[in-house]
This record gives sequence, C-alpha cells and structure tokens, in this order.
Amino acid sequence: MERVIIIGSGPAGLTAAVYAARANLQPLVLAGGMYGGQLMLTTEVENYPGFPEGILGPDLMLKFREQAERFGARVENVDVTEVDFSGRPLIVRTEQAEYQAQTVIVATGASARWLGVPGEEALRGRGVSTCATCDGAFFREKHIVVVGGGDSAMEEALFLTRFGTRVTVIHRREDLRASKVMAQRVRSHPKIDFIWNTVIEEILGQEHVTGLRLRNLRDESVFEFACDAVFIAIGHDPNTGIFRGRLDLDERGYVRVTGESGSNVDGVFIAGDVSDLRYRQAITAAGAGCRAAMDAERYLEALEYQMESAAPLT
Ligand code: NAP
Repeated sequence: MERVIIIGSGPAGLTAAVYAARANLQPLVLAGGMYGGQLMLTTEVENYPGFPEGILGPDLMLKFREQAERFGARVENVDVTEVDFSGRPLIVRTEQAEYQAQTVIVATGASARWLGVPGEEALRGRGVSTCATCDGAFFREKHIVVVGGGDSAMEEALFLTRFGTRVTVIHRREDLRASKVMAQRVRSHPKIDFIWNTVIEEILGQEHVTGLRLRNLRDESVFEFACDAVFIAIGHDPNTGIFRGRLDLDERGYVRVTGESGSNVDGVFIAGDVSDLRYRQAITAAGAGCRAAMDAERYLEALEYQMESAAPLT
C-alpha cells in the first residue's frame, strides 16, 4: 500500500513529490512514458523565479526530478491506464501493474491541441509539429508557418527564426492574445510576418509539407500558400481521459477542485494544469503541487489519528 501516488511529472507532480518526500511519505510518482510535462517541449523559461538568466525547460525539469529523488521519491516512467476510486484503497493501474494507495495526487497536466484538418495527421513529423524545440532544427533555411495568436505561438515563432529564412504567423483574428512584451518582440522581428483573420483548411504535401490551403474569414477567399513546415500552437486540452466518470470534470474536461486542492473523491488531490484553465504557468503548477502534497499529508495524519483512536485498548 502506497501512502501517496502522484500521477504526472510536470512542475505540479514533481513539486508534490518534493514536499511529500520531505514529509517522509516516500511518494511513488507515475511519471508517464515521457516524464517532465510540457516544459520538456519548450525552450528558454525566463519567468521561473530563481533563474535570472533563464533556463531551458528540460534542464529545469531535470532539476525538479533530482530534487524529488534526493528526498526519496520514486519516479517511474510509466503511463497510468486506469484508476478506480470507487472504494478503499484507491486503485491505480498501468499496463504492467496495479497499485493501491491511501492518497492520489492527480497532476497529469494538459497536452497540445491539434487543428483537426486534412493532412495534419498524415504529415505529422514530416513538417507538421506542435514542438519547435523538438523539430525546429529540421527546417533550416526554410519557410516556416506558426498557427495561433497566444504566447505559445509567439514563443515558437521567435525560436523558429533561428532556423527559418522566414516565419509566417497565421492567426484567426486581428488581435494577438499574447502578452504585450511577447507580441511586441514578434511584431518587430524582421524575419516574422503575419497573415490575419485566416484559418488553415488543409495541410498540403505528399512526403512532406509543401503548403497550406487557407481561408480568409473576412472575405471567405480560399487560397494556397507555399511553406515547408507548420507549427501548431493553439492551446491545450487537459489530460483527463482516464478520470472520466471517476472524477468530477467541468464541461471542458478540467478536473473540478473542491476546497483547497481536493476533489469529489476523498483522498484524491488535484494540482496543476489539469484543473487550471486560467494561469497555466510552471510556477502556479508548482505552487499547486505543494498545496496538494501538504493537503495529502494532513489527510493521512487525520486518517492515522482516526485509526489509532478506533483501535481497541490492549
Ligand atoms: P492560448 O493563450 O489559449 O492561445 C491559443 C491561441 O490559439 C489563441 O490565439 C487562439 O485564437 C488560437 N486558436 C485556438 N484554437 C484555434 C483553432 N482551432 N484554430 C486557429 N487558432 C486557434 O494558448 P497558449 O498560447 O498555449 O498559452 C497558454 C497559457 O500559457 C497562457 O496563459 C500563456 O500566457 C501561457 N504561456 C506563457 C509563456 C511565457 O510567458 N513565456 C509561453 C507560452 C505560454 P483566439 O485568440 O482567437 O482565441
């Protein structure tokens, strides 16, 4: 029986692991096949306090992991396939094993959204990507498109200027959702241009991306646009598939938090982007991980106290 199982290994999960481990709860972190969460797919993180020069996302996550392991957290790179929260103990299953736990911290985060247009799936890895850090270097001296108007799209566009001869941002509106600083950096970059009020209808190409079929939303004109790669940066969806019917989810699929970090199931605590549509920052996720671990610790203490009080005197 585990005292704490943490599902997920982004800033929320690994911060929960640091706190639970330091509370001597020897947490088991089921980290997913690829540990580290979304920061594994970013470049420079400039807004995580404590790193005035900035730090690469994967380097930051390695530090999180090392810190958790230093205090006795066990991190396993496996995917959770099923949970059963209908009774006690709480059950968490992977392909290989079944675990029992007194408490579970859900920190499964969110994943990049896809456009769902023809050509997108067929050309994934052949010019279609959601990760500039992973795939940008394949497009040296090429014309690259980025889709989206948020901070992620701006970050991707700026990063891709290292490789591409030209980077075109395609956005469905005329206003950027991105923060002013990021938007300003992108707007003033000599290698970046914009196509406004336009959506992608189809990604074109046989072996690799050769262009896009675009639709202008103002005049409904449809036209082809030549490019070599398209990076999709249109937001994220919470990773809550395995919790459907087990945890209370809102209409967008985010876990509903009750109280501080609790859920509709006693002993199941929630942290990070899996329940956060609003902030979605590494630092807010880390803070939420800390809260969830402290709440789990208090819950376990109360449970032990109850069991001791109920034990017959000998
Ligand atoms: P976001 O802020 O939700 O932006 C998503 C963008 O994609 C929006 O511009 C949206 O258009 C567009 N979009 C959504 N669905 C689309 C579709 N089907 N077709 C075409 N366009 C679509 O997501 P994000 O950029 O991933 O950022 C998420 C959060 O992380 C934000 O809070 C952001 O500030 C933060 N973030 C911060 C940094 C940083 O500070 N360095 C970096 C990355 C992300 P509309 O604008 O029309 O809705």
